Amino acid sequence: MPTRDEPLLLTPGPLTTSRQTKAAMVRDWGSRDTEFIALNARVRQRLVALAGGEGTHVCVPVQGSGTFAIEATVGTLLPRDGKMLVLVNGAYGQRIARICEIMGRACATIETPEDVPNDPAALDSALAADGGVTHVAVIHCETTSGMLNPLAEVATVTARHGRSLIIDAMSAFGAIPLDAREIPFDALVASSNKCLEGVPGMGFAIIREQALAKAAGNAHSLSLDLHHQWTAMEGNGQWRFTPPTHVIAAFDQALTEHAAEGGVAGRGARYRRNCEVLVEGMRALGFATMLPDRLQAPIIVTFHTPADPNFDFETFYDHLRARGYAIYPGKLTVADSFRIGCIGRIDEDDIRGVLAAIEEALGEMGVDNTAPAMAA
Ligand SMILES: *Cc1c(COP(=O)(O)O)cnc(C)c1O
Repeated sequence: MPTRDEPLLLTPGPLTTSRQTKAAMVRDWGSRDTEFIALNARVRQRLVALAGGEGTHVCVPVQGSGTFAIEATVGTLLPRDGKMLVLVNGAYGQRIARICEIMGRACATIETPEDVPNDPAALDSALAADGGVTHVAVIHCETTSGMLNPLAEVATVTARHGRSLIIDAMSAFGAIPLDAREIPFDALVASSNKCLEGVPGMGFAIIREQALAKAAGNAHSLSLDLHHQWTAMEGNGQWRFTPPTHVIAAFDQALTEHAAEGGVAGRGARYRRNCEVLVEGMRALGFATMLPDRLQAPIIVTFHTPADPNFDFETFYDHLRARGYAIYPGKLTVADSFRIGCIGRIDEDDIRGVLAAIEEALGEMGVDNTAPAMAA
């Protein structure tokens, strides 16, 4: 049972990890120890295999959260005279455009509303019209809403136009299939602490070796230069700067557990079940999801805030938190909302636990009507 002191994190990361993953951190490693070098090499190799990139792609890890890895990948792969086209339908797409703007690299966007998937036909026309676009960026699961974007179509269109694709697969990789042998991409970016259930502190990119080999000198930053990070690591097996040793050790254990669960298929099945039980239970309590089921990724679900004047998100959050469940505020611009995550070391019984806690919290708050304002 979750407790106030050790809550379940129903959030998009950091999230609940297994006891063994946490336990993998209770020793120290020297960054130049052969043992650590072997551990690091194993983690990199496992990540390439998970992406179906053996023989074509390499894994370049980088210290920091997922955004550091995104910024490093964009800065390394996009030449200074290149141009990025970002498919935007939420905060993470916008973030990539902002990264380009700060780096002073040319960038265009194709925006759809937060509840509308990326439009591959619009991408097709944009690439036909603008030969200057060298790279396309897409968010696999847009965590802002929980939407699954049409990655396969976007990748096909991008490849047909001979442009380079960068995928922000942060909140999908490890639970939603994405294989380099089926979906052509130059880079996929993710982090240790989402569907792979490691602890936070490391991002990584799975990059086509041919594309990375050509990227020397592109980077705007020393510490975020993935070409340099890669050549240095290939050279002596070591990180250029202090590695997050404990995070990598925990990640190795988390990857063992991912494989034991049946890899992407097994992990995806548990998350889908979590998501189904959550959505069904919340609808039974009268809540409405923001997205129709066909657009919903089994990662995080956005619910409309009830119109009932007795409902207040902070109070609701505190009630649930006192019972050992941490949920997540909304990030949408189109509607008042909150989010509940389906990922991390949690199962359908945990979801039933949070549903029971939600019912109790509503009772204590005196909320009778959980329908959103527009449907009320
Ligand atoms: C979590 C996430 C990121 C990175 O966020 P950080 O807070 O920097 O780890 C980027 N893109 C998506 C889609 C995400 O879900």
